[in-house]
Amino acid sequence: MRLDVDVAIVGAGTAGMFAISEARRAGLSYVLIDHGPLGTTCARVGCMPSKLALHAASLWRTRREMADWGMTGQENLRIDLGQTWQRLRQGRDHFAGAAAGTARKLGADQLINGRARFTAAGELTVSTAEGEVVVTAAQVILAVGSTPFLPDNLQAVADRCLTTNTLFEQESLPARIGVIGSGALGLEMGLALSRLGVQVHLAGSSSFAGIDDPVLSERVQASVAGELTLWLGQPATAEPAADGVRLRAGEKETTVDALLVAAGRRPNLAGLDLAAAGIATSSRGLPDIDPLTLKIAGHPVYVIGDANASRTLFHEATDEGRRAGRHAAATVLAARAAAADTPGHVNAGATSPAPRQVPLSITFSDPDIVHVGLRHGELDPATALIGTASGEANGRLRILDSMQAMIRLYADRDSGRLLGAALFAPAGEHLGHLLALAITRGETINSLLELPWYHPTIEELLTVALEDLRRQRKRAPG
Ligand SMILES: Cc1cc2nc3c(=O)[nH]c(=O)nc-3n(C[C@H](O)[C@H](O)[C@H](O)COP(=O)(O)OP(=O)(O)OC[C@H]3O[C@@H](n4cnc5c(N)ncnc54)[C@H](O)[C@@H]3O)c2cc1C
Repeated sequence: MRLDVDVAIVGAGTAGMFAISEARRAGLSYVLIDHGPLGTTCARVGCMPSKLALHAASLWRTRREMADWGMTGQENLRIDLGQTWQRLRQGRDHFAGAAAGTARKLGADQLINGRARFTAAGELTVSTAEGEVVVTAAQVILAVGSTPFLPDNLQAVADRCLTTNTLFEQESLPARIGVIGSGALGLEMGLALSRLGVQVHLAGSSSFAGIDDPVLSERVQASVAGELTLWLGQPATAEPAADGVRLRAGEKETTVDALLVAAGRRPNLAGLDLAAAGIATSSRGLPDIDPLTLKIAGHPVYVIGDANASRTLFHEATDEGRRAGRHAAATVLAARAAAADTPGHVNAGATSPAPRQVPLSITFSDPDIVHVGLRHGELDPATALIGTASGEANGRLRILDSMQAMIRLYADRDSGRLLGAALFAPAGEHLGHLLALAITRGETINSLLELPWYHPTIEELLTVALEDLRRQRKRAPG
């Protein structure tokens, strides 16, 4: 079968679905290609099951605080981790089912269930159960996501390795687990499993959950080390053992029943044969894309979402889907208008796209690790000020027994504008959004201090960091 369309979208995940909505809105012809399973990485194996696991872990952890408040009997509480995981899958199935339904609705008759690859520039061949479908498209949007990978040094214990693709399918959880990777996913899952009673050894690089602020990093490490065994800064190796897996990092070693490998994810671009479309790639297999339009230079092809390995987060996938969809639609409409020699309607927003959103990332580690705007490593030491507030300074955090919290605010000395923030705070997701709004709106130290700050709230801790910035700014020369 052969099809000719304006836009072909490969991947019915989060990014692909936002792209297709734009193509539909513009009245273009399209196909949506996905080899399945539908339901998106976020809902099936990502954001949602991981947050369900963290929620269960948080419920179970509460029992530890009870005795201090005169609540007894918690020693009789039991947890059946098989049932916990079953409940998690129920919740997950709701989200994944809804996402798959949306993909089917958006794709409708144009949804092709198969695996796509380029066979020429502007031509995709899709292998389906019914045979091959050849699709020619004026614009191609690649929204193929990414897959966890197993480093070579873990191949010998591959049969004992789990990833976030398989963890949530387990009927029960191992008693001892080694987590490989100290990024956001390794940390979230390591903490969830530890809080549920699994013995966790977490091995990773010295960069922890992506934190590059040394003061915050120290605070987070001290807190996490109180919950699980942390081996940072030494490469981990593993070998089969009679009773599981022997895990080593430097001088340290232990035996675990299984490994959760969270050592990174690779874009699913390798199987697409980009070379057949004349697209060059870097040594990492990535094409060169424009960060605003997500278009590959010199080709009518876009790479969006996790597939471009840039901002691998849900809200960035939605933003990139919209950007690429709008840009592709505007390009098709402009070409049509030019062919008909009539002034066509071209969406100005699509042809000159808006700047990217303020970066925002959240690790739901409770206290959460949040980054907004500029990172510590991106600051100009000559002009940036750093305001610090520690949890001990906040009454609400004292009530919540979360005094290990910390806020680091980055501001420009001359203008007083807020540039970025790194946080370790309970309910950090809310503080993060507040700060993203402030940075987007160009708020300053003084304008933020003029806002109402309700008492007693965690938000008040922001005012302590803002006051610190104000004092430093007053003292600064000039
Ligand atoms: C454990 C975990 C927790 C996470 N938690 C968060 C979080 O809390 N917050 C957050 O913002 N982000 C989180 N993320 C990241 C977030 O899930 C991803 O950034 C987002 O889902 C990426 O969406 P996508 O559309 O790029 O890819 P996907 O949703 O993976 O979609 C890709 C689609 O392409 C299809 N496909 C691939 N290759 C082909 C091909 N050749 N032909 C046809 N179809 C193909 C696949 O079947 C799939 O449906 C988490 C991720 C993980 C793994």
